[in-house]
Amino acid sequence: MDQTQIEALRAQPVAAFSHLIEGQHVPASDGGTMEVLSPIDGQPLTSVARGTAADMEAAIASARAAFEDRRWVGQPPAARKKVLRKWADLIDAHALELAVLGVRDNGTEIGMAIKAEPGSAAGTIRYYAEALDKVYGEIAPTASDVLGMIHKEPVGVVGAIIPWNFPLMIGAWKLGPALAMGNSVVLKPSETASLSLMRMCDLALEAGLPPGVLNAVTGEGAVVGEAMGLSMEVDVLVFTGSGHTGRRLMEYAARSNMKRVYLELGGKSPHIVFADAPNLDMAAAVAAGGVFRNSGQVCVAGSRLLVEASIHDEFVAAVIKVTEAMRVGDPLLMDTHIGAVNSEAQLAQNLGFVETAQAEGGEVVTGGTRILQDTGGYYMAPTIVTGVTPEATLTQREVFGPVLGVTPFETDDEAVQLANATVYGLAGGVWTSNLSRAHRMVRDVRTGVMHVNTYGGADSTVPLGGVRQSGNGSDKSMHAIEKYINLKTAWIKL
Ligand code: NAD
Repeated sequence: MDQTQIEALRAQPVAAFSHLIEGQHVPASDGGTMEVLSPIDGQPLTSVARGTAADMEAAIASARAAFEDRRWVGQPPAARKKVLRKWADLIDAHALELAVLGVRDNGTEIGMAIKAEPGSAAGTIRYYAEALDKVYGEIAPTASDVLGMIHKEPVGVVGAIIPWNFPLMIGAWKLGPALAMGNSVVLKPSETASLSLMRMCDLALEAGLPPGVLNAVTGEGAVVGEAMGLSMEVDVLVFTGSGHTGRRLMEYAARSNMKRVYLELGGKSPHIVFADAPNLDMAAAVAAGGVFRNSGQVCVAGSRLLVEASIHDEFVAAVIKVTEAMRVGDPLLMDTHIGAVNSEAQLAQNLGFVETAQAEGGEVVTGGTRILQDTGGYYMAPTIVTGVTPEATLTQREVFGPVLGVTPFETDDEAVQLANATVYGLAGGVWTSNLSRAHRMVRDVRTGVMHVNTYGGADSTVPLGGVRQSGNGSDKSMHAIEKYINLKTAWIKL
């Protein structure tokens, strides 16, 4: 990747996007479209179909028909593996095109996007392509006059609703295992980041996925997302997004066919730094990177810094120094550290959280403002607020923006208590040289992921999912497969 290639792609006009139903690109049934603004400069980029409930129903009907006639699950595993592997190869071959399109749509800095979006998506699809012929049924240890077999069957039609922060990566976390297990899928990308994901779906067809096995409908969550949630023909709903929407999806399931609902929701992840951290400079750099990359629009962002009181001032000074050295700006420039906030509404919400934090006694020690307004884009200076109390809004509510709250602690017990003082339980981190303390923190902090002497890190082999109000079930790893299969017992009298 070099800047010249990126600029060539940036200069390309983006054609309007329509739905993908039964292998065809189709407009909204009422002809409606939604304008897509680029967060880089606030200018119109293209448009996407504004889906109707009827569009969603057509996509679900297509997925149902494809599942019932077994055009995908009926193929030998080796054939399905070949298609998914080819899809991953095509994503790799189109990586820069996909990444630049995505960045123009959602504002993530290109350095991160290229790895976390097409790079990760291709890796995930390949991982599940390889997994698909390694999922065995079981023979139960029954009495000898019967044979108890446990089959692992696809669930049927999977509905997948995706957020805007990492559409390809998160999309692949659902699509990979769902398709590998033989299901049909209907995808609903986010209003503010549909483009690269829709393009990635096209590549699946190019790789040989039969029409109807993967359908995608763009539009508003409250319209097409609701139609998906209420459908009697969707068997499993998988979702990444806010807790607010997650709750709605559970309601939709209860009001319709009681479909299984798997939620990956938000977090308010504690990043705990003890005075005995092996390397405080590194901890400071990772603490800043762990919350500010992608403008803080990362579900596992370490947005609460809990610092042992004896090193509080010195450590916060080190984090401020790293933060102020981060370049914020045009996300398509390769040396940008922090790109644009996804939308003007999200930026306004972020600034509102800063105001509230100040009103509640917090001190903004760096950032706190919108910057680069002359570009027309949505940029915010990475912001650190000290003196954040356990009851403060900045402790209790997810910002999903570049805002870090800092709270001191005195003892291990207090660190655990503070870490667990929210309704969330997605991720966390601890810096210490004491092995016992590290293990205790991993055990006692109630999250789905704990990092020790690092923060972030990604691999297909380990699950990612939250506990408490951060969600249920996990994406990634072989464990994710359980969401996309049903167990069926065959009880055979011998
Ligand atoms: P959101 O809940 O507003 O939207 C997510 C998706 O849900 C979008 O596609 C949207 O169109 C759809 N939607 C909205 N209303 C709907 C409705 N009534 N019915 C059905 N669908 C509806 O979330 P967002 O702003 O796109 O994403 C940010 C949130 O996602 C944050 O809370 C973040 O922490 C979370 N997130 C979690 C993870 C994770 O793995 N746990 C990863 C990334 C983001």
